[in-house]
Amino acid sequence: MKLSTRITVGLILGIIFGFILNVFSPQTVPQLNEYVLSPVGKVFLNLIQFVVVPIVFTSLVVGFSSIGNSEKVGRLTGKLLFLYVTTSILALVIGYVTAYVLKPGKMVGNLGDVASTEAKEGQGIIDWLISIVPTNPFEAFATGNLLQIIFTAVLIVIGIRMAGSHAKPFLSFIESVHSIVEKITLLVLKLSPIGVFALISSVIATQGLDIVQKLFVYIIGLLVALALMMIAYFIILSLLHISPKHFWKSFQPTFGIAFGTASSNAALPVAIENAKKAFKMQEDIAGFAIPLGTALKRDGACILQTFNALFVAQLFDVHLSGTQIVALIISALVVSFSTAGVPGAGIIMMSTVLTAAGLPLAGIALVAGVDRLTDGFRTLLNVFGNTANAVILNKWEEKKKVDIEVSNTKPAYTLNK
Ligand code: ASP
Repeated sequence: MKLSTRITVGLILGIIFGFILNVFSPQTVPQLNEYVLSPVGKVFLNLIQFVVVPIVFTSLVVGFSSIGNSEKVGRLTGKLLFLYVTTSILALVIGYVTAYVLKPGKMVGNLGDVASTEAKEGQGIIDWLISIVPTNPFEAFATGNLLQIIFTAVLIVIGIRMAGSHAKPFLSFIESVHSIVEKITLLVLKLSPIGVFALISSVIATQGLDIVQKLFVYIIGLLVALALMMIAYFIILSLLHISPKHFWKSFQPTFGIAFGTASSNAALPVAIENAKKAFKMQEDIAGFAIPLGTALKRDGACILQTFNALFVAQLFDVHLSGTQIVALIISALVVSFSTAGVPGAGIIMMSTVLTAAGLPLAGIALVAGVDRLTDGFRTLLNVFGNTANAVILNKWEEKKKVDIEVSNTKPAYTLNK
């Protein structure tokens, strides 16, 4: 069986198993979860995160060094940021409009005692911008801060260029580490069907069905918005003559892991692998665009923030003015860039958006109970959007290469007959 099929089977069996436990054998859930499902899931998550830092750092150093000139790095970054902002705005609008049409805040069961989770404070935007520059590169590696690792890799590549032949042994060492970590990634991926089975069955088995019933329209509305954004991506890919089928098939293992783990970071090593081997993306683009997107690009978080803010406004009968809507959209865009690629990160960032839009923070506590249930779907879209943007960049760069080759083969002048 192919890896993608095995991951899908793991997910489906995990959902069925978790559901059976939740409904028919709730008394066995705490023990089974504590001693089997949760430990197995955590070991898999740890193993996959084990390769994230080395794979990102070595991919970036090898990729940047092979790009050869800093002008190209600047061009690729500029194009990616343009793509990120435009597609994120689309996601923000889809989240807002879906909540506006479906009115989830008006269709909530009596929440009473379930609304007890504490709202946590998110990181401020200025603090986040400052934190991109690490004071200690080893701390960046140790804490797995992707943006700091990208920053460090860029500085090191600049240093490598300046050091010339002195840097050759270091570069060969990094290339060698890269090949080793790629092999370890393949090994870890073999365990992914069991890992996603344990993680997803644990989520479903321990999910309180009571809160799901009460927030049913909220959950379905959010899923509809996420699905609409995926459809939008499929349309964009088709318009750019990129086969959506080839895209989906190539990245299927990545999407399965994103959904099962609810962590974009965990899906990163397999995303790079799928991009290079299955999709046949240019190596330098895969090694650069996918880590950058994992650090920054979160369509699922964009949708969560606007959808949730409107939900809270409806719930508390707050009429949003034009200025509040603009504040909401801008803060949600910035917040989506600073949402970490780990489970539950989106909900922590809600406080920033709700405060910017002048909405009550109590809204966070209400939806926290179903967060893990929707997180897998959000993460799936986060990773889907990231890889789709990388694929679009790859297409543009391929076209540029062909255009340059064609113009080089054209004669400089033609003789008059
Ligand atoms: N879990 C998501 C991710 O890893 C972030 C979120 O909570 O929205 O991409």
